[in-house]
Amino acid sequence: MYTSWYQCVRGCGRRYSIYEVVYRCEDCGGLLEVEHDIDALRDRSADEWKALFDQRTHTHTWPYGSGVWGKKEWVCPQIDDENIVSVYEGHTNLFWAERLGKELGLPELWVKLCGNSHTGSFKDLGMTVLVSVLKQMISDGAPIKALAAASTGDTSAAVAAYAAAAGIPAIVLLPRGKVSIEQLIQPIANGATVLSLDTDFDGCMAIVQQMTQDPHIYLANSMNSLRMEGQKTVGIEIVEQFNWEIPDWIIIPSGNLGNVSALGKGLLLMKELGLIKRLPRLVAAQAAHANPLYLSYQTGFEQFIPMTAKKTIASAIQIGNPVSYERAVRVLQVFDGIVEQVSEDELANAAMRADKTGLYACPHTGVALGAMFKLLQRGEIKPDHRVVVISTAHGLKFSRFKVDYHQEQLADVVSRYANPPIEVAANYGAVMDAIG
Ligand SMILES: *Cc1c(COP(=O)(O)O)cnc(C)c1O
Ligand SMILES: [Zn+2]
Repeated sequence: MYTSWYQCVRGCGRRYSIYEVVYRCEDCGGLLEVEHDIDALRDRSADEWKALFDQRTHTHTWPYGSGVWGKKEWVCPQIDDENIVSVYEGHTNLFWAERLGKELGLPELWVKLCGNSHTGSFKDLGMTVLVSVLKQMISDGAPIKALAAASTGDTSAAVAAYAAAAGIPAIVLLPRGKVSIEQLIQPIANGATVLSLDTDFDGCMAIVQQMTQDPHIYLANSMNSLRMEGQKTVGIEIVEQFNWEIPDWIIIPSGNLGNVSALGKGLLLMKELGLIKRLPRLVAAQAAHANPLYLSYQTGFEQFIPMTAKKTIASAIQIGNPVSYERAVRVLQVFDGIVEQVSEDELANAAMRADKTGLYACPHTGVALGAMFKLLQRGEIKPDHRVVVISTAHGLKFSRFKVDYHQEQLADVVSRYANPPIEVAANYGAVMDAIG
């Protein structure tokens, strides 16, 4: 039957059960990756897998109606269906950005709206897998009392919601003043223990790693590679939405580098099982204020220097010491990847330009869009290419950003698309004057 396990990514290759509480190799300290029994998965042909996934996309049968669990055999085959904690994540719209694409001379521009999800970001894709495995472990008798995560705002929202749905206590560590008000209130509402720390994300991450050395507290950060298994479905879903054709480019905003690694992992699995013949090129897009991967890319990935990230509007990727650096580099090398960076001015204006064509972009989506503009201008992306920009969160989680932008109050940003409301007297003549 199908099965998966943790395996050390370094030479040693030691294996662990996914139901063990282990985040790094006990022998060599390497990160652990979830591996699948590929030979077992070959019992279905590529066409049979496609047909199965297509059929489940239109079902409500538990748990296959979820975009993640519709691909259960590729994600976490050995879990009992009754332990799955799902709110039917995935199946997000692949938005044809027709107007923006026309403006840019790029007719095949698409935006994968991962923020159209239960807690408003792609983090739901991974959290359903992690919390389901945890629920299985607890029901099998593991003495785990809570799960904990450091977060730049979206992980904590997802942890809190899935933990609440499962009835498992959650603890979240947030950098004080560095998450949006919407992100702050989400775990509060879902009943998590919310700890607001006077540090940045990297500071919270260091503490949560110490906390989770206590075996009663389970780590929900993406160092726990179970999340990767759910997140890897995003690339598979994009290809499925294009009738199993691959786009030329996928551009993704990147901070801790788990998501770009997961995207690559899903696409590679498709190739291995024959569902696709070639690979798209990947672009990891970073904010210039938090660009350790970009700087490493400039050295051909020879050098990696963790940094203290500067404040950026793209707060979910304000990360200076990304946990999944090694994973991301391997993926980018296989996918002929590019790393691009954008300034605060570029990311804010890219988001608002997209809004004017019907999107409602979060700042991170602005980072990916801004990177896409640059690659198009440089001629790297050609007008006849099919390009997918991954929108990682919903713009509604970042109202302050939008308000400040339209009031022209953002530091380092010239609001080129500002559209402030017009104060007008409550009479017909004044209204008609105002609309010209
Ligand atoms: C988490 C997050 C990212 C970055 O993903 P990584 O896996 O940390 O690289 C980007 N955008 C949003 C909105 C996020 O919440
Ligand atoms: Zn090892």
